[in-house]
Amino acid sequence: MTVLKLTAEQLKHYEELILKELRESVSYIENINKDQSIGARESSGDLSSYAYHQADQGSDTNLMEQTVMLMEGEREKIRLLNDAMRRIADETYGVCEMCGDLIHESRLEIIPYAIYCFDCKEKMEDKKRRQRR
Ligand SMILES: [Zn+2]
Repeated sequence: MTVLKLTAEQLKHYEELILKELRESVSYIENINKDQSIGARESSGDLSSYAYHQADQGSDTNLMEQTVMLMEGEREKIRLLNDAMRRIADETYGVCEMCGDLIHESRLEIIPYAIYCFDCKEKMEDKKRRQRR
């Protein structure tokens, strides 16, 4: 069985794509931290002091919760992007972790940190859906 991998040119292309997304995610988080001091509050894990100060601005609290969730999403993305960078370095990038096939380029263009090909991803989501029932 031949081991599939992307060409050096393709790896270079996706590396740039990943770095671009990384920069965007990092600056996104930095901007939020600048706008609102989420950082300090999050590291202490203390939500009560915040709730106290914002007690008379109920709608803002919801907005903050949304922002925190968005940030969690961005952090997760950064983690996945860093993983992808590691796979670029050891040239396993672009190969489905499940079946070992190459992940389609159109998929990597949209989700450069994808680790499964479309078929395997579908199968997994199918399984999840069935388990939920
Ligand atoms: Zn696959």
